[in-house]
Amino acid sequence: MWTVRCARCGQTTPYSLDQWRCPCGGPWEPPRPLPFDHRAIRPRQPGIWRYAELWPFQRDPVTMGEGWTPLIPLSSIEPRLWAKLDYIMPTGSYKDRGTATGLSALRELGARHVMDDSSGNAGASLAAYAARAGLQATLFVPAHAAPVKKAQIRITGAHLVEVPGPRAQATTTLMQALEQGGIYASHVYNPFTMLGLAAAAWEIWEQLGRAPDAVITPLGHGMLFLGLFLGFEALQAAGYIDQLPRLYGVQVTACAPLAQAFATGLETPAPVEERETIAEGVRIATPPRGPEILQVARITGGAILAVSESEIRIAQESLARHGLFVEPTGALAMTIWPQVLRETDHTIVLMLTGSGLKSPS
Ligand SMILES: [Zn+2]
Repeated sequence: MWTVRCARCGQTTPYSLDQWRCPCGGPWEPPRPLPFDHRAIRPRQPGIWRYAELWPFQRDPVTMGEGWTPLIPLSSIEPRLWAKLDYIMPTGSYKDRGTATGLSALRELGARHVMDDSSGNAGASLAAYAARAGLQATLFVPAHAAPVKKAQIRITGAHLVEVPGPRAQATTTLMQALEQGGIYASHVYNPFTMLGLAAAAWEIWEQLGRAPDAVITPLGHGMLFLGLFLGFEALQAAGYIDQLPRLYGVQVTACAPLAQAFATGLETPAPVEERETIAEGVRIATPPRGPEILQVARITGGAILAVSESEIRIAQESLARHGLFVEPTGALAMTIWPQVLRETDHTIVLMLTGSGLKSPS
């Protein structure tokens, strides 16, 4: 029996497959702080599974060796900047850490048919891991998602449902389908997804030999952002680091509910209209974990900013000139580092989250 806690009202309860969120509407999260003890690390285990002894499910994990991605200096000119190559994953995006732990937990609890709504990368990841786990998968994806990501879902044998209209419509359509059965294996609501994502923080800490001063991530649903916070918080609670790194999230001006809320001091996402952007992965108008994301940005002394389409293009090209080919969403961290460098004069890690092969145009 695995206990979870509502991020909104604080209620704790044993997790059950038929209650994917708290009756109050809040998302579940693992009890915090997460346990961490360096003696539990098993360096011979592949990827994130070096940390498996810290997690409840380890008997028969669904894995393709995800995690332990390279952390490299961005260039010899600026030694304070590090790039975490999180697009080097089994399905080409950072989602795989969370999918591996999230789906391992759901399968252990008895899930057979899993469903998710996604702008592409989470869907591609869940489809692949479900195929590997021998589970049936149905993915609801906006019709505007990148063709490569849709093809990546289809070829696994998963059922792909293309939903016209804004991203939010994919969620609405899934909710209707759920009434006919299936498990909502949401990469946003599944609390066990966050355990895998927290491992990104532990990897960075091990690879650098210390915590960085700041980490910059793209920000849509904010799962990587929150996962990094959980991971660093666990290290701090266990006495391995003194201070939490500042966490910076990057949104796009076409859809910036969290950047607007951060700038105006709101505690919940600002109401925005979802507009088109080349960074489709962060086109999320109403992030369910918005209040927690805003809290984390403020607690750590970071910020949430929004950038323009041309800034994204320039960042993507600039990364490619360093040899790093990422999709537009994956280049978001690259857009604001000069500003972050003015605020913290030390080590900054850029999370590069999705492969350029996903949207080669
Ligand atoms: Zn609640």
